[in-house]
Amino acid sequence: MDINGKIVLKAGREKSLLRRHPWIFSGAVSEVAGDPQPGDLVAVHSQSGEFLAHASYSPHSQIRARVWAWNPAEKVDQEFIANRLAQAVSLRREMFVNGETDACRLVHGESDGLPGLVVDQFGEVVVVQISSWAGEVWRTEIVEQLLQLTGAKTIYERSDVEVRKHEGLDPRVGLLAGKQLPQELYIREYGMQYLVDIEAGHKTGFYLDQRANRLAVRQLAKDKHVLDCFSYTGGFGLNALKGGAKSVTLVDESGNALVGAAKDAGTNQLDITKIEMIQADVFQQLRKFRDGRKDFDLIILDPPKFAPTRANVEKAARGYKDINLLGFKLLRPGGMLVTFSCSGGLDAALFQKIVADSALDAGVDAKIITRLSQDKDHPVGLNFPEGEYLKGLVCVRS
Ligand code: SAH
Repeated sequence: MDINGKIVLKAGREKSLLRRHPWIFSGAVSEVAGDPQPGDLVAVHSQSGEFLAHASYSPHSQIRARVWAWNPAEKVDQEFIANRLAQAVSLRREMFVNGETDACRLVHGESDGLPGLVVDQFGEVVVVQISSWAGEVWRTEIVEQLLQLTGAKTIYERSDVEVRKHEGLDPRVGLLAGKQLPQELYIREYGMQYLVDIEAGHKTGFYLDQRANRLAVRQLAKDKHVLDCFSYTGGFGLNALKGGAKSVTLVDESGNALVGAAKDAGTNQLDITKIEMIQADVFQQLRKFRDGRKDFDLIILDPPKFAPTRANVEKAARGYKDINLLGFKLLRPGGMLVTFSCSGGLDAALFQKIVADSALDAGVDAKIITRLSQDKDHPVGLNFPEGEYLKGLVCVRS
């Protein structure tokens, strides 16, 4: 792609780029020269005229440009995109060599040098999610290359994320290449099978990021009474049962998610009589349990993003505090709380502080025995801390 324009940064605003952080915020821009169109490649210079990067221009977003390359000699063309994709895919092939699963994240955006692009593989189906102009203009090349790299039978687009709005992009959903989606698609993961709904499921169909944590919960659950809050299709709860839990209670507001959980329980020959499913608001249901003096040995809290950005952090903190406080109250002595935040706007230190305050206010003593994160196919660029969004703590109540 030809370079069509230039961004000059304000004095001092080159610092983050010199540290190879790939975002150029609108507030850092002093001048846009030429007439770059959305998605065009621009050269980024410091106020003193030093070349910093080649980036993709996005006139409507606060993130005004996203960096593709730091080396002025590097051409951003079809081959460049193909190489980055090949590198990302080959890393995943190295990660899962023992048949643990046939589903994983092949591309994790900026952390794989592919800004705003997510690619997930679910068996024979590959799902593409493009959330910014950077990827938008390379759709055709991305699809062509993914077909070659993965041998997928179907490539499907799920670019229906909120953040596209900030870029001035409409949602795009549908078949990109190959056969129609199969009627029913199952993935394998650590000896279990899950039904994945590519068209209507959350994210691109399934919470791949929690893979290792599902296994961790399986290993913690033997002989326990387990409560899985915000269960979705029961990823944690069903693993608890697989690990020998005495009973599992799933709580989610979505009836469809619970129907999915029931199907997966059947597929995996789990004892359905040990599962209770409650379609309810978790905030209210936890209060009901508290008022009914119900308690559990293992509680999982995996809520949706309360704070997508830093702007919502205070309200989000109150939400986390509420559920964690109630969670601690419902734990039997010696019980474990497995608590998550997938909010990009709230960092690990603050999350730990909220959990600590929750225990304090619940009047219980607790300690952290394990820290959890997104699984390894969701890497975090060392210069892109934003790539780390999922935080989890396993706490034991004294
Ligand atoms: N633990 C799941 C993922 C959870 S996603 C897994 O590992 O697969 C968040 C879930 O919370 C969604 O299924 C959504 O339906 C549910 N949800 C969101 N807000 C809720 C609320 N207030 N009460 C109950 N469920 C809620």
